[in-house]
Amino acid sequence: MTADARYGTLKLFVDGRWLDAGDRVSEDVINPATGEAIASLPHASRDDIDAAALAAGRTFKPWKALPAYDRAKIIRKAADLLRERVEHIATRVVLEQGKPMLEARQEVLAAADIFDWTADEGRRTYGRIVPSRMPGARWLVTKEPVGPVAAFTPWNIPIVIPARKISAALAVGCTMVIKPSEETPASVLELARALDDAGLPKGVLNVVYGVPSDVSEQLIAHPAIRKITFTGSTVVGQHLAKLAAEAGVKRATMELGGHAPVLVFEDADLDHAVRAMVAAKYRNAGQVCVSPTRFYVHESLHDRFVDGFARAANAITVGDGLDPATGMGPLANPRRIAAMERLVADAVGHGATLATGGERGANRGYFFQPTVLANVPMEARAMNEEPFGPMAITSPFSTFDEVIEQANRLPFGLASYAFTTSSKTATMVADALEAGMVGLNNNFINMPETPFGGVKQSGYGSEGGTEGMDAYLTTKFVSQT
Ligand code: NAD
Repeated sequence: MTADARYGTLKLFVDGRWLDAGDRVSEDVINPATGEAIASLPHASRDDIDAAALAAGRTFKPWKALPAYDRAKIIRKAADLLRERVEHIATRVVLEQGKPMLEARQEVLAAADIFDWTADEGRRTYGRIVPSRMPGARWLVTKEPVGPVAAFTPWNIPIVIPARKISAALAVGCTMVIKPSEETPASVLELARALDDAGLPKGVLNVVYGVPSDVSEQLIAHPAIRKITFTGSTVVGQHLAKLAAEAGVKRATMELGGHAPVLVFEDADLDHAVRAMVAAKYRNAGQVCVSPTRFYVHESLHDRFVDGFARAANAITVGDGLDPATGMGPLANPRRIAAMERLVADAVGHGATLATGGERGANRGYFFQPTVLANVPMEARAMNEEPFGPMAITSPFSTFDEVIEQANRLPFGLASYAFTTSSKTATMVADALEAGMVGLNNNFINMPETPFGGVKQSGYGSEGGTEGMDAYLTTKFVSQT
């Protein structure tokens, strides 16, 4: 393996110490634009994982006791360091994950915003006084940090997803051991580096890597750990939720897969809908849990919508994320290429029309063309399985009731979108959709101050907003006479 100097080396971060590979097992990290190894990632030993959990356990009391004001100062300082280091960090993100540099920069800056907002919100962890029905009694409701947290984060948004979990937990006084994806390990190490440099006490945050199932099993069962938070696929989420229950009914937040419907009504501004949704669909090559996927378009607009969408998709420049001309990078791993090829063949086999794309883009790296499949029948796999790639699928509809039934048909309920110029339709659709988030005439559903999460098999619990802080708090009632 030839290490890429632009990418740098990888370590573990345990109890405030940066650990080298030493005699640990390690695995290669691959640049998805070339398919070549760029660095070697050390795996934590069982002892390392134990040390990380014990450090999170030991530091919980002093970290919780530190005034929220002082915790916030450290997190805000780390946010400033992320902004100062944006070029360096974004380059590492592109090299390990593949997204275009512009998106990687935006992701680093978004993480800094999340750190700022969450740090401040941690200072507003208020309780309340309930008027008592007993003479002379005082009734207090207080909020306390739940304890040391085990976090598991994926490869698709390797900075922002961990930033949400880390900053909310730390801001309210929790400590953490995080196991990010082994495929994109530098990103979280940069968050940890910024917090370490900002003065985070040693052991409050720990970063480990390894075989995911081994690490999660050991960490979730560890007596020091009191809460689990996971972002990833529904199948893995189900498994981890079960482990959390078996380990002592430990609390869990599960942010799982989606299959976002987009409802384009007869009165929609078609050009706006196409523009907004093409940008949202192909961001991060479609590897986003809130990526718009199933486009249900009123029959009077359907063919024009497909035409405009396919033309815009076809105009996207696909290439190495480090090339400034690139509009969409490679997929993050070969599993996604295989999934795209399987879903395209299956949809066409079911009678769908391939309006554009549908093929691998190059003979090295994991490139796939921006793809639009039109008139996709309900039975096609793509209509039922989350593509998690650069694939838009369309189907015409005629009535409101019919399209709501289609939109709510799947067991997922994360993001959903609708385009209409009628406020009555907008209200009706917002009420009718079974989803954690609804974007009406826009896709602005992911801000630090707003809740992000799903219903049904898309998981439970929120990240972001005051709800995201609650995920790391317990409620205590005090009745005093
Ligand atoms: P996967 O199910 O193998 O892994 C999903 C994530 O979970 C990865 O980050 C992986 O490292 C982690 N993971 C896997 N097994 C684990 C375990 N036992 N303990 C702890 N972590 C574990 O699938 P994949 O090929 O990486 O991704 C495929 C699917 O996952 C996608 O199609 C998509 O549905 C889903 N996904 C969702 C998100 C999201 O943001 N919600 C992110 C990444 C992947």
